[in-house]
This record gives sequence, structure tokens and C-alpha cells, in this order.
Amino acid sequence: MHGVTRTVVGAVGDELTHQTLENLVNQFPQAVESVMPIQKRFKLVSREAHPANSTVTLRDRGIVVGGRKIQIMAGPCSVESERQLLATAEAVKAAGATILRGGAFKPRTSPYEFQGLGVRGLKLLAKARKETGLAIITELLSEDHADLVGECADIIQIGARNAQNFQLLIAAARTGKPVLLKRGPSMRIEEWLLAGEYVLSSDNPNLLFCERGIRTVETYTRNTLDLSTIPIIKKESHCPIVIDPSQGCGRAELVMAMCKGAVAMGADGLLIEVHPNPAEALSDGAQQLNLEDFARLMSELKPFIAAVGRE
Ligand code: PEP
Ligand code: MN
Repeated sequence: MHGVTRTVVGAVGDELTHQTLENLVNQFPQAVESVMPIQKRFKLVSREAHPANSTVTLRDRGIVVGGRKIQIMAGPCSVESERQLLATAEAVKAAGATILRGGAFKPRTSPYEFQGLGVRGLKLLAKARKETGLAIITELLSEDHADLVGECADIIQIGARNAQNFQLLIAAARTGKPVLLKRGPSMRIEEWLLAGEYVLSSDNPNLLFCERGIRTVETYTRNTLDLSTIPIIKKESHCPIVIDPSQGCGRAELVMAMCKGAVAMGADGLLIEVHPNPAEALSDGAQQLNLEDFARLMSELKPFIAAVGRE
């Protein structure tokens, strides 16, 4: 992990005794400043391992997540058609988003609900990427599709339902693309950090945590969006954190307020569902913003972004 003043090398595997570690430093006095055993169960994702914030750079896109600029990832829940995707892509780009979201493989609760366009959806995302220059984030559902999704995506999304599917996490990490790891609906923060550890320990340093709400007693909202994860992840980890208020609330009218709160609390990015005609969406219609409301959200967010000294 490269920082401004030092490079941290994380050694994982069988634990060594402190004495063995000391011997290691003594062998390479010019190269190794110090050796530090990390007591936490999560090691490479921990702030102890890497005191500075880490940033995730999207290759060939010039987009940095975790830097001064708050990155907005926006687009439909599901890729439905060329027209729907391109209209959304143009609109979110014009409003200031840098990354286009859209599910090609959808993890639906019922097998009778729209499952996504699959490979055809990936091709449409590739087309939108080429035509607009937006980077792409899309979900990986199966290890079998890792190469396919890895080719098309600038960021691979691991969905809430798969947040502890460790073989899938390893397969995503091995594509070499940045991985956005959603928090599972019933996951504790330590479990989430440990799931992230699977990515970093698979030789992929480019991990984003994404809070999308957890299941609680509340039914007014689809999930309970836990914004306390922002300061907690910032304290425990160096990895950037993204907030998804769309799955988080399940209601379009709450998205604006949750985005303002997330920005004020230090989120590094927002993942927002946007659809040209939410009433006719094939998935998650109630929580998707229409194009006008998204543009309004982006302009209303500006003073909040400026207030925290970000762009
Ligand atoms: C989504 O982003 O559309 C999605 C399915 O998210 P989650 O995995 O958080 O439910
Ligand atoms: Mn969705």
C-alpha cells in the first residue's frame, strides 16, 4: 500500500512471533523502517496497517475515489434497454456524475422477477461507456462471470446478498478491477471489514465499502440506512466509503436528504438509482429518481459538498 511518506507491505498468513518479526527488520535495516503486528482480526483493511486514507483510481479513466472529489455513481437499478440506458447515462453525466451504475445480472428475491439482461446488458454498458466516457459499475453475481464482468466494469459491485460469499469476493478481486463491497442486510461492521479483508488479501488493494442499509424492526423504509458507518469505517479502515441511499431507504423522496447527510458525514461517493421513467422500471421503481430530480439533487448537494471542503 503506497502512501505519501511510506510504503506499507502487509504480510498475511501464519502468524509469526514478535521475535521473528524483529529479526526481519534487523535483516533489512535500510529497507524496513519498522514491523508492526496488527492485533485486529481485519488486518490489511485496518487503519493500523495504513494510517493515511487510501484512494482507488479507475484505470484509464482519471477517476479517483477517496480523494477530494466526491464521486457520484448514478444510473438505473437494472439495464433494461439501449434507449433507457443511454438516456440515463447522458442525463447523469450532464448533471455531474462520473460513474454509470446499472445491473446486468440482478439478484432478485423472487425467481419470477426480472433477472436482468445478462450479457446483453453488459454489452449495453460497454456501449454507454464508449459513447459517454463514463466509467461503469455493475454487479457480479457468479464466479463464472468474473472475467466477463471484469472486462466491462471499471468497478465490480458485490451485492448485499453476496457480501459474505467469500469465493465470489476472491474471484472479483482476482480480476484486478476495483471492488465495491456492499454491506449485507444483517452484517455486523466487523464482519463487513473481514469480508473486505478477502479482497485485499487476494492481492487487490482497490476496495470500496458501500453502506446500503440493514434490516431492522422498521418497515417504513425498505432498509435502515446506517450513516454511522461513515465515521466508523473512517476510524477502523483506510478504504473509501460509498453510500447507497436508494437501496438504503427504498423511497425516492428520501434520497436527497440522505445524500446531504452522507456528504456532511464524510462519504467518499454516492451510489444513486436513476431511471427515465421510474414508474415503469423493471426493478426498484419506488426508489429510483427521475432525470429531473437527479439533476436537482446534484445542484442542491453543491453547498453541502463545499461545506466539507470537497469537490
Ligand atoms: C442494486 O444496487 O441494485 C442492488 C441489488 O443492491 P443491494 O445488493 O445493495 O441490494
Ligand atoms: Mn436496485
